[in-house]
Amino acid sequence: MKLLVVGSGGREHALAWKLAQSPLVKKVFVAPGNAGTALEARLENVPVTSISDLLAFARQEKIDLTIVGPEAPLTDGIVDIFQAAGLKIFGPTQNAAQLEGSKSFAKAFMLGHGIPTAAGETFSDAAAAHHYLDQHILPVVIKADGLAAGKGVIVAQTWDEAHAAVDSMLVDNKLGAAGAHILIEEYLEGEEASFIVLSDGQNVVPLATSQDHKRLLDNDKGPNTGGMGAYSPASVITPGLHEKIMREVIMPVIEGMAQQSQPYTGFLYAGLMISSQGDIRVLEFNCRLGDPETQAIMLRLKTDLFSLLDHAINGTLDKVNVEWDPRVALCVVMAAQGYPDSPRKNDVIHGLDVMMANQDADDKFHIFHAGTTASSGNPEKILTAGGRVLGVTALGEDIQQARARAYAIAKSIHFDGCQMRRDIGYRGLRNE
Ligand code: ATP
Repeated sequence: MKLLVVGSGGREHALAWKLAQSPLVKKVFVAPGNAGTALEARLENVPVTSISDLLAFARQEKIDLTIVGPEAPLTDGIVDIFQAAGLKIFGPTQNAAQLEGSKSFAKAFMLGHGIPTAAGETFSDAAAAHHYLDQHILPVVIKADGLAAGKGVIVAQTWDEAHAAVDSMLVDNKLGAAGAHILIEEYLEGEEASFIVLSDGQNVVPLATSQDHKRLLDNDKGPNTGGMGAYSPASVITPGLHEKIMREVIMPVIEGMAQQSQPYTGFLYAGLMISSQGDIRVLEFNCRLGDPETQAIMLRLKTDLFSLLDHAINGTLDKVNVEWDPRVALCVVMAAQGYPDSPRKNDVIHGLDVMMANQDADDKFHIFHAGTTASSGNPEKILTAGGRVLGVTALGEDIQQARARAYAIAKSIHFDGCQMRRDIGYRGLRNE
């Protein structure tokens, strides 16, 4: 089998790496990939990004299955386009991807299907939004309706911040079309967790639970990022909560989407807030895997990922049994100077070659690349090329051991201006 993975981050590196371990897979192309995917056995980068070029490549190479990492191609309809051309692709259709692509669609869907979520209302008129805010309590959450790469959510602690967020989206159009509609939502308290499943439109296979660390700095301070680290499993999701999430959130989504003729096939990610009383509410849906949660989850997955996706495409997920490594996996993100606002590029990464050579002899860790590139003059020299640079992911008997291992490896790798949280897994340690 020849596969194509679309994307260039740590999530795609982890997916492609895992897919290439299948005895059924001969080659995995990654478009466009990164310096890490270029170095893996049976992986090859291809410099294409537009949907039309990806389609042409898949046709020319006779790709057996395409797997899409990030949300943008999904909400742009890559699945519909490939399927119309008779090509196999794994992910939700453009209609189904609205669960992530439009927060007002997701909110209306949740309210319509009794899925627990924060109370909220949608606005496109600034005066109406300001008036609504005047009757709200603080804190209050203002969200751009469309995709805004993590910049579309403001948790306002003051009235000034709340009104300014409304104006920036609805009056000054700071987020363009993504902010032409907004959602004003009740603030929820609790602990966040990621619950990701695989669906064939009818059957569901839950992946291992995980927890992300969205803020840049230790103790959840600083700006929101794409995610600075993750670990799996997330002990906050007890077996009882797991069952409740499947019953109250996941199955109503899959059944509700099928009922409205938008069957959901793909990875479905529910971002959850879990209150101290154990109540769950959905913060958001994503129509793809989380990054960096995927790095931790893939390190624990023992089942052949390709055969899992093949079952999902063929509607036979009810026939699979997924096996997980019982150990904990923990991923520490090493990010570039200036991330998330203005990440610096082209810093030389030192010590990476030695650690990457070690990982082949040791199945206890893997370094997944994100924003990296090989120097044009010297392919052995790897440079930073984006916000999140590396995801050092390690296994351990418990969080403490996985964490100690991941940080010891990260300490041996260096680039100027590297930003790294020192407390990944702290909530899990507390729960333990
Ligand atoms: P991303 O795509 O980066 O996951 P996003 O831009 O789609 O994020 P959300 O995940 O909806 O946005 O929100 C980002 C963060 O804002 C959440 O992880 C959570 O910390 C916080 N947040 C969102 N909604 C609420 C809420 N109702 N109450 C409290 N915090 C919230």
